[in-house]
Order: sequence, then structure tokens, then C-alpha cells
Amino acid sequence: SSISWNCYQHEYNLIIAPQPRNMIENSMFEEEPDVVDLAKESPSYPIDTDNVVYEPRSSRLLVRGLGENDLDEDEEDYESSARLLGMSFMNRSSNQRSAASSYIRQHYSGSCSMPSTKTMVVGVVVLVLVASMLMVLYFLLGCNFTTAGCQKTNSTMDSIYPNSTNGELFPWADLRLPCSVHPVHYNITLHPDLTIMTFQGSVSILVQVLNETKNIVLHSSDMNIIKATFDGKEVHFLEYKPWQQIAFKFPEDLKKGQYVLNITYTANLSSSYDGFYNSSYVDTNGIKRVLAATQFEPLAARKAFPCFDEPAFKSTFTIKMTRESKYISLSNMPKVITTDLKNGLEEDEFEKSVNMSTYLVAFIVADFISVSKNVSKTKVSVYAVPDKKEQVQYALDTACKLLEFYNSFFKNEYPLSKLDLVAIPDFLAGAMENWGLITFRETTLLVGSNSSAIDKQLVTSVIAHELAHQWFGNLVTMQWWNDLWLNEGFATYMQYISIESVFPGLDIDTEFLNVRFKALAKDALNSSHPVSTVVSTPEQVEEMFDSVSYEKGASILLMLNATLTDGEFQKGVTQYLQKYKLSNTKSENLWNSLSQVSKQNLSVSEMMNTWTVHKGFPLVTVKRSGTQVTLTQEHFLLNAENSTDDSSLWHIPLTYVSDKCSVLSSCKQVFHLKEKTATLKLPDQVKWLKFNVRSDGFYIVHYDEEGWKDLIGALKEDMNVLSCKDRAALINNIFALSRSGKVSFRQVLNLMDYIRNENETAPVTEALFQLGQIYRLLDKRSELDLASRMTSYIEDHFGSLMENQSWDLETSVSKMTLRSALLEMACSLNIRNFCVVIDSWIPSDLMRTVFKVAAQTDEGWGKLLDMYKHSINDPEKHKTLEALASTQDVWKIIWILQKSLDGSEIQTQEFPLVINTICKSFAGYLYAWDFVKENWDKITQKFSVGSFAIQSIIMSATSQFSTKTHLVEAQNFFSSLGMKGSQMRIVQEAIETIKLNMRWMENNLNTLQSWL
Ligand SMILES: [Zn+2]
Repeated sequence: SSISWNCYQHEYNLIIAPQPRNMIENSMFEEEPDVVDLAKESPSYPIDTDNVVYEPRSSRLLVRGLGENDLDEDEEDYESSARLLGMSFMNRSSNQRSAASSYIRQHYSGSCSMPSTKTMVVGVVVLVLVASMLMVLYFLLGCNFTTAGCQKTNSTMDSIYPNSTNGELFPWADLRLPCSVHPVHYNITLHPDLTIMTFQGSVSILVQVLNETKNIVLHSSDMNIIKATFDGKEVHFLEYKPWQQIAFKFPEDLKKGQYVLNITYTANLSSSYDGFYNSSYVDTNGIKRVLAATQFEPLAARKAFPCFDEPAFKSTFTIKMTRESKYISLSNMPKVITTDLKNGLEEDEFEKSVNMSTYLVAFIVADFISVSKNVSKTKVSVYAVPDKKEQVQYALDTACKLLEFYNSFFKNEYPLSKLDLVAIPDFLAGAMENWGLITFRETTLLVGSNSSAIDKQLVTSVIAHELAHQWFGNLVTMQWWNDLWLNEGFATYMQYISIESVFPGLDIDTEFLNVRFKALAKDALNSSHPVSTVVSTPEQVEEMFDSVSYEKGASILLMLNATLTDGEFQKGVTQYLQKYKLSNTKSENLWNSLSQVSKQNLSVSEMMNTWTVHKGFPLVTVKRSGTQVTLTQEHFLLNAENSTDDSSLWHIPLTYVSDKCSVLSSCKQVFHLKEKTATLKLPDQVKWLKFNVRSDGFYIVHYDEEGWKDLIGALKEDMNVLSCKDRAALINNIFALSRSGKVSFRQVLNLMDYIRNENETAPVTEALFQLGQIYRLLDKRSELDLASRMTSYIEDHFGSLMENQSWDLETSVSKMTLRSALLEMACSLNIRNFCVVIDSWIPSDLMRTVFKVAAQTDEGWGKLLDMYKHSINDPEKHKTLEALASTQDVWKIIWILQKSLDGSEIQTQEFPLVINTICKSFAGYLYAWDFVKENWDKITQKFSVGSFAIQSIIMSATSQFSTKTHLVEAQNFFSSLGMKGSQMRIVQEAIETIKLNMRWMENNLNTLQSWL
């Protein structure tokens, strides 16, 4: 899926609005401003590694990190006994914790006399020995309960079962389903009523019993089951709500073979954004229209029909949908037949699907219109609400071109005879890759006559991402959510590859570079996690949809592709898809397929495992003495004082160029650094060396003093000796190094001296982004003098480039991106009165900049609000909303917060964007924080705990705090959440970020006085 792509431009700095840092997933959310931490000395608020270590996830560590609520002894005892039993359900999420209390421990009730002390000691020793042996045997022979997907019906578990709703013991004690029973085929019949917002359903599941068992356990959530039959006979079922499971108990073992399980039920259409949910919009005549659509990934298929809701339980599906004749219905597969049921009702039946995971099932009932076109044997259609029929053509043409590209790239044709792309009016994710029925936000699919090339870049990226999923994710699926990156990292990477090839004018390469910088910034925090992480609870599954799975995943694939020689990557991927199609895989399967095609004898698994199992990334330090170069690697963390005891080693395919040859791609040299330290011998003397060519590798580089001096000198003399990506990477790396305290801020400014000559998009936007972050922190601390010095610095270094920008029509995406970044910075810092509100035509890529200025007056704000209410052009609407939220007027800020949360005048899907935009301004950020605290319950009803939306809201609201008071306030608030969110990884990240900000302030406020 594409995690909310709301705004097409990257926004994670407060002041510089149009930084195109992240176009793909998350963009509306990822606006979390990253940490600014230029610490050099030891902080007075130590950032203790112990407080933030977060893998494997454990609420205990987390709660300690928050400074209170250590588990009480009973709980600890309970956990350790559970561990002895290998129980993964103790992996503690909020759900589980509440679940734990309903477990029954059945005590052995025999009686005996008091033994002597000696007997007791001997007895204990013997018991311990026996227990250890049993454990060893258990772990050697048993299954891995959290990742392997193989849940044995294990007699050792008999003692701990939860209570089901009716008080009877529930026969299963794990979040993961048992593997003794598999679904083979589902017949699903649904009848949603869009007037009273409920639906009736019945599901008939053909199941295969693989091992004899007395129980069938599957998922079901929020539904009222009316009747269940098994092979035609009515059966009794048990429900365990905390884990969304139901079970059927049988008196005798079921023999191996196939059976039919039938369940009839009713449920409400969901009013949040997952499951089978209702959505509505107001048409141009002011009439409210309703529709029903689905969003199942990751865990919500179970809200629409009882099912084995894990990605490895692939099966086929036949869906029938009853609807009023004024609507159409859509599902994954083409429609076979429509039956008139009279009374204004019709029933659509869809073809039997291919073998697929439950999270990819989808259906929609709505009044949409469509346009279609054929590509090979597939009919591609784009659907939208009737008012927007003028805006679907771009998506159709783009989808067709990309489908052709993927059909030929993967050497494996898209297997279905239709592919629908549907714009849903109220939709939380950016898009969702349901097989054959991809759903989008309107902003990520529709392109109107006044959409800019940057708007098109967004739409193209999301389509490219979702189409890539039709292979990576749909055809071949990760075994379990711990390897989500196999879906998301790959789709993200393929979107850049396909767009670069099919739409070279969209400058997607610069965008991808920004995405890598962003992933590095996130992964430099202690609270980050490995690409492949153990997950078991629903919240942990939700949390996997983050920058690490998407952006770091894509970055390490780029590094691998750059290391393999021509064509090997594509060849390996093709073989992988061929080998595993319609089934499930782990990371290892992909690496093996790639190793097999590598001619250079590179063990892909050995190299790539170091990038997926450790969190974080390496810092490579380069020391040159003549032709002898010493290379050292260490784990790069922003709070560097804790990194010494970290022994992680990466297999780094180091690349470098020198003054002898630096611009052509053939200049690139490769050295594999696998050890902590290694020596590289150069053939000749060089003037300078630049490592990590074009920043294709996922690591940052530090040079010794001479090394930096040589590079800075070379840039000053002629910056074109390095590619613009290399220059952007130097800027990115030196700011990161100064945050971690490895170089002084003085050295940062030394490098930045050359920037007056710079006019390429990548280095300029990176520099503005970094400086903007510092400005923002100073501003929020009311360090007015320093903030104004920062403004002067920016004006001094970028003023002439700002002056060179025009307000005319511009066609190059790269130039648009550059001028948006410059003009928005100029407007927000009020540099040289660049910004005046103009009443005439403005190019659409500058709308946001201009609207934001206009929104600062009552009159302008009122006009914009009117525009927002009446516009049917989504990109424009979106820019208008951002402008409205950038107001400095407190009453307007409060109004907009309320309206976007209750969904009355602003759709609730926009709430995370609203929070993010408001938090950028000095006037609004404290109001937004208070609002989040006061409305937490309401917010988590709309957006699930752990979800990307929640991650964004928390980071937006807290990432600019840099005082002890705010730290304590945030800690108190988060720990008070208890089961409603205190255990989220993002909470760790937020606290760590505030501490880093505090440390930066402490160390740099004084020195900035003399440097700026
Ligand atoms: Zn995706």
C-alpha cells in the first residue's frame, strides 16, 4: 500500500514548505521534522541507550524508558512462566496485556507433606536441569511461534488458555492461527445497506484439514454471527475478542480431508478507515452521496468476513454482491453476471479469483463512472465520482504505460483480465494494491487541467508503486508481516526504476535521493528497528508500515542493484517471481535467487543479511595517507556516546571516485568492506577521494581533517568535479555528522561556503532543508536574535538564486522543485519582500506558496476557505487546505483542528496533514499539542494505534520541543496512555527526538552566536 500520500511534497520542515523530500508513501505523514542535534559535548540530559533500546519490542523496556510503571512482580513472574512455554502471545501489546488478565492458570491441586531442605535443594536442581533440557529440546524441535507461521497444537499449552466471551475456555492460545487447517476457497455473499450503514454476509469456506485436530480457529471481528454450520450441521462456536479469533470445537479429531464451514452474520459498515467502511462526499449540486469500500491491509479482512486472516493462508475467492440498481459494484475479478432480484436490488457475481491473501480482497459499492483502455489482454479502467470524470485520463494513460513496462520487466504478464484504479473520496492510506482493484485517494489518482508537473509526479509515483505490488506483494507475498519490506521496499524501489525508464522528464531520481536522506535520518535514531523485525501484535504489525520498511527497504535494494553487474538484478528478480508465484516467501528466498545469477560470486544473502537484521546503518571513516587509505566502520547513531559497545558489522559495497576520474559512471571503483577496519591501496597519488558515489549506498562517510579540506577545496575551485548528487550527499552527511557531535558546526559552514555558486536542485534543497530545521528550533525557543541571524545567513547564501527565480510557467520538474523551495523559504522568512499576493494567474506549482501568504489576512483566508469548499480539483484543494492551516490566527487554528477531526467541513483523512501544517508555525504548535492530548480517544477511534497516521500526528506535535518542561510533559502524557498507545515505537522516537533537541540547544546556542 501507499501510506498516505497526501501532499505531494515533502514537508518536514517547518519553514521551507516545498521540499520534495518524499513523494511516495507517507508524504503527508512524514513530515515529521527530523531531529536537529549538533551536539558536541556531553549533554546534561543523558540519552541512555537502555532507555531506548527497542528490539525485540518490550513494553517493559519502553515503560522504563518513560520513567514509570515498571511491571509489578506478578506480571514479571507471569511472563517468565509464559516464556518457558514458548508463548509468543506474551509479546505484550496493549491488547495482549488486557488479554493476559483473562487467562486462567490451572493449578495442580495435589497435596503433599513438607519436604526437607536437602530434598528441596536436590529437587530444585533436578527440576531446573529437566526444565532446561526440555526447553532446549523444545526450541530445537519446535516451531518459531512468532515468525514461522507454524503453530503447533501443543499439549504443553494446555495449562494456559484464555476465556472466551461465554466463559468457556477458548481452545487456542496464540495470536497466530494454528496451521493444522488451511482455507482452500471462500464463497462470500454480501449485501450492504447504504441507508442504514449495515451489511449482511454469509461466507462458505472450503477448508483442508492437514493434521488431525479437534479445533478450527479463524479470525472474525466486530460482527454478529447468526448461524454457523460445519458440513451441513449447525455448530457451536467460541469467540475470543481481544485477538479477534473464533473457534469451533469438535468432540472427536477431524480426519484429514476437506470440509465446508458456513457462517452467516451481520455487521455495521465501519466508520473508521478500515474493514468494509462507508464513505461519503458532497456532489457539485450540494447533495450528499454515499458509498462503501474496503481497506483490509493489514488486519481488517476479518471485519468484513470471518477468515484465516494471515498473508500465508492464500486461497481463492468467489464474491457475490447485492446492491441497489443505482449503484455499481466492483471487486478484484471481472463481473460474470448480474441478476435482477426485484425490489430495486441486483446481485453481481464475480469470477473466481486467483490464489491470494485475504488482505488483498476488495469490493466497492458506489455510483462511480469510468474510462477504459486495453493493454495486452488486460482491460485497464480508472473510476471516480461522476463530477470528476474530466480528471481520470492522465491516470489511465499512465497506468497503461506502466503496466506495459512491468509486463516486460518482470517477464511475467499481469495475470488478470482487468485492472481497475479507483479514486475514493474519503480514504486514509495513499493507495492500496488490492489485486485487480487498486484504491487511491483522489489526490493520488486524479489530475485536472491546472495540475502541475509536480502533481503528476505524485500521481505517477503512486500508480507505479501500486502496479509494482501486483507482482511484489500480490503474486509473491511475504510469509508474515515481519518481512513487510519485501512488499513495500520492493514496490518503492520499482516505482523509481519504472518512472525513470517510462517518464524520464519527471526527475524521479532526485526524489529518490531525498527519500534516501530521509530514511538515513530516521534510521540514525536509537528507536529505529531492523528492516526485518519480529512482529506479533496488531499494533506491531501496524507499525511496520514506516520509513524503514518502505524507504530503507528501497535504499538497500538500490545499493544491491548498483553492486550487481548489468542485468543481474532484473534476472534474479524474474527468476524469484517465476519460482514463488502464487506463494509466500521470506527475505532469504529473494537473496538466494539473486545469488544464483550473480557472476561475481557475491553471496547476496551474506551481504544483505547485514542490512536487514541490524537496525541502523554504518558510518565509514576514511583516513588517507599517501596512497594508503584506512577505512573503519561503526554504527552511526545521533547520540554517538552510546555507540561504542555496538559491535554490528555491515558488508558494505564501498564505492569511490577521485580527482583522476569522477564524473563518468565508469569512474566508480568498488571495495567490499566487511571487517571493522580495512586498508585500501590506491594505484596512484590522488588529490581527493569521495566515497559513496551518488549516494547509492545506505551509509554515510566521514573523512579526516585533510580529507574534508581537500574536498571542500575541490568544490570551491570547480564544483562540477562532483555530480550534483554527490554534492547533495556531502551536505547531508556533514550536517548529520555535526548533529552527532563528530564535527563542529564551524566545519559545516566551511563546506557550505561553496553553495553561493550552486544552482542544482538536489544540493540546494538539501541545504535549505537542513538550515530550515535549525531555524525552526531557534524560532520555537524564541531565540529571536539567532533566528534572524539564520535568516540573514540564508539570504546571504541563497539570495541571488532566489532573485533569479521567475513566477512564469515552468515545465521542468526539477526547476519547479528548486523554485518552490527557494520562494517558499523566501516568503516564510520574509526575505527581500519577494512575496506579494498576486491576484492574477499563478502557475500551479507555486499556488501553495502564494496561498500561504494570502492566508495570513482575514480576507484572504475567507476567500481560500470558500475555494476549499467549492473546488472539485483535488491538488488545488489540497494546497488550499495547507494554506488555511498555515494561518497565525489562534481562532482559525482551533476551528480548523476541530473541523478536520470531526470531519464536518474538512475530511478526517486530512487531520494528520492539518496537525503537521499547524505545528510548523510558532502560533499553532502548542495549540496543536494540547488538542492532540485532549482528543486522544477520539483520534485513536479514527486512526488505529500504531498506524502511520498516528505516527505522523505524534511526531508533528512533539518534534520541535527542546526544553525540559516539554520533555516531562510529553513523557507524562505518553505514559498516561497505557494501553492506548504508550507502547508505540513512535513514542520512543518522539522522546528521543526531544532529548536530542535539548542537547543540541545546550551545546550550540552559545557557539552559534559567534558562527552565524
Ligand atoms: Zn505499498
